[in-house]
Amino acid sequence: MYQLHLFNLIIPFNYQKPIYDGFILINKKNGRIIKIGSQNDVFFVNTSFGCEIKQNKNSICLAGFINNHIHLAYKNNYVTAKPNEQIEWLKNLVKTSRNWSEAEKQEIIKNNIQNCLKNGITFIFENTPFGKITATEIEQSPYKNNSLIGLEVFGNSEEQAELIFEKSVNYLNQLEAQFTDLKFTLSPHAIYSVGSSLLKKLMQWANINNKILALHLAEFNFELELLQKNYLNPNLKEFFEFLEVSSPEMKNNSSQGTMQYLLNLATELKNTDLLKNFLLIHFILTSASDLEIAQKFDLGIVSCPQSNLFLQNGLPDYKNWLKYNLPFGFGTDSLASNFDFDFLSQLKNIYWLSNCQLSAQDLFEKVTSIPAKQLKLENEIGSLEENKKANFIHFELKPENLNKIKSLSEQDLYTWLLMNLNNNLIKQVFVENKPII
Ligand SMILES: [Zn+2]
Repeated sequence: MYQLHLFNLIIPFNYQKPIYDGFILINKKNGRIIKIGSQNDVFFVNTSFGCEIKQNKNSICLAGFINNHIHLAYKNNYVTAKPNEQIEWLKNLVKTSRNWSEAEKQEIIKNNIQNCLKNGITFIFENTPFGKITATEIEQSPYKNNSLIGLEVFGNSEEQAELIFEKSVNYLNQLEAQFTDLKFTLSPHAIYSVGSSLLKKLMQWANINNKILALHLAEFNFELELLQKNYLNPNLKEFFEFLEVSSPEMKNNSSQGTMQYLLNLATELKNTDLLKNFLLIHFILTSASDLEIAQKFDLGIVSCPQSNLFLQNGLPDYKNWLKYNLPFGFGTDSLASNFDFDFLSQLKNIYWLSNCQLSAQDLFEKVTSIPAKQLKLENEIGSLEENKKANFIHFELKPENLNKIKSLSEQDLYTWLLMNLNNNLIKQVFVENKPII
């Protein structure tokens, strides 16, 4: 009924101290942590009798990673977007994925799930236009109880806002009834693909139902041109014609930026707290006003730096985010704008690209405890603590490396882990105490 995992080093995250020669006691029935601590504790000595013990040699254990923004239903077509050709990239993405059969989509989703697991990702916030196929695959995977599925909503037509909203809610209700173990929400795609009336309806819906709205925001130049200058890029117009849907209108345009636009919508609804349900994805092309509003309402931000670089959008101004103390986590986005789901290499890159202004420890928290808080799941996942799910990654190291790190300060230890851990060192990944790779 109980299982003890022993590791040379445990990194629980949520800014708790690393534990050398540590143990995790797990209730096998529910896959949750009963206790975590040092093997020198009296508690350990008293409990270890009669327990199933798993001694992991030369081992480091990290809390499992959370990928707070992904689309499982795309694959890499090895086409990087050229600067200012992102609309072409979007069109290509839609064109290609439209031609996939149901079986092909299933295969792509399956492969992406396996890839995420291999990379130590134990929870995903998935966003999809193919709700049912995605839900079917997730239900059969370890992400069954470890995911949130955002059903993507599109629609610029003001006249059809009510209809699209009702259809979206009905679809969500239908999937919730069919897949009772899975968690769903609605994800308005972006402000250039979801009209203001529809977005307002979704904001009210999220508030009543306590749901999170993931919204791609301030990602592309054409999005800002549309918002600030009411300029509809001809390529974007052609893209919407190709999709046979209405082009965006942006009547409530705001010269101050995307957050002022959202704040205006909330103000029209006489409830600025409606902003708090948003999870802002990307948030690259921001003004001082955007950052101030995000700070004021304590909004969750999910940065997908590899996708931003892939699409030639540049990186967000992390230095400014730190100045405004914005809580942000990381996502990978889909393989259409990324080459892998390798958080360890992504964190390393951001460490260097931010001129080391983001500490190694903070970077790790951005794929563990911070996204857990953004999902309001901080009591379930995001760190290794009592009563939380036993979602963790087991790395096996060379013995000489383990000896080396014992003398490091805490800060240096995190930097060492960031520089030295890689996916080849992952021995096993556990989701609710079940080894899944
Ligand atoms: Zn995305």
